[in-house]
Amino acid sequence: MVYRITFLGTGGGRHTTMYQTRCTGGMLFEHGEPSHFLHIDPGPGALTQMRRIHYDLGRTESVIISHAHPDHYSDAPSVIEGMTRGGWVRRGSTYGSPSVIEGVEGLGPCLSPYHLGLTERTVSFRPGDVLDVDGMRTEICKAKHSDPCNVGFRFDTPYGTVSYVSDTDYDREIGEQYKGSRVLILPVTTPHGNRIRYHMCTDTAIEMVEQVRPELCIFIHMGIVMLRHDPAGQAAMCEKATGVRTVAGEDLMTLDIGEQLSLGKADTYPDDLWIPHWAPDMPEGKK
Ligand SMILES: [Zn+2]
Ligand SMILES: [Zn+2]
Repeated sequence: MVYRITFLGTGGGRHTTMYQTRCTGGMLFEHGEPSHFLHIDPGPGALTQMRRIHYDLGRTESVIISHAHPDHYSDAPSVIEGMTRGGWVRRGSTYGSPSVIEGVEGLGPCLSPYHLGLTERTVSFRPGDVLDVDGMRTEICKAKHSDPCNVGFRFDTPYGTVSYVSDTDYDREIGEQYKGSRVLILPVTTPHGNRIRYHMCTDTAIEMVEQVRPELCIFIHMGIVMLRHDPAGQAAMCEKATGVRTVAGEDLMTLDIGEQLSLGKADTYPDDLWIPHWAPDMPEGKK
């Protein structure tokens, strides 16, 4: 059974996103037996990164969009077109917060009615909900962010809980929800001494890691100030303060979740005319 997360992008925040200092393509989560593919937060760069690793979007069965900020959703329409074989095969599920699916207080909706209509199911979630994402139990947690609908996730695997916290301010209540996580994927937008509203910095990451005490913490969603302040050094600061193994994510890093947690790098391919076999024969599912 394969449980693997491929980090398509580890950048976040508006400046990293607009200049693509790091990609902001979210994560691909391969899970279960046979394998299912879930795409979490496909922001800018997702498609480019999937091309670099020759990942066929036609394998994706579900997409989850945590909130209505472009670093989390902008490549989603194309991801949905991939999931549905160019829009010809109705399959898969789209999950999103109410701001993503319906639009709330001027934020979103992030997908057109056309794209929302392509997948088999559309699910709008709220904190406290428990989803069955292609067989994987997924708990929806509360976040404190400038999109008030944002949430975080606890994904249950046979090898423990993998949590993706998504953009939030930190307090004890936020941290409490992630207790028992084996892996904590944490958006640490800014470095030590740079606390900003609605996001985490290295200092609050340390407090949260201290509270949750996972086996492994991975920093992602790094803003430009963070990137200029040695992300690996910031992660080391967290590891030193908490004793919890902490790494700064890198684009196309992989995490295999099994008896052991192992980090690696996705295979990349040179630029060529690669396209999956089904694509040129699209009428496969044409009605
Ligand atoms: Zn963000
Ligand atoms: Zn955000």
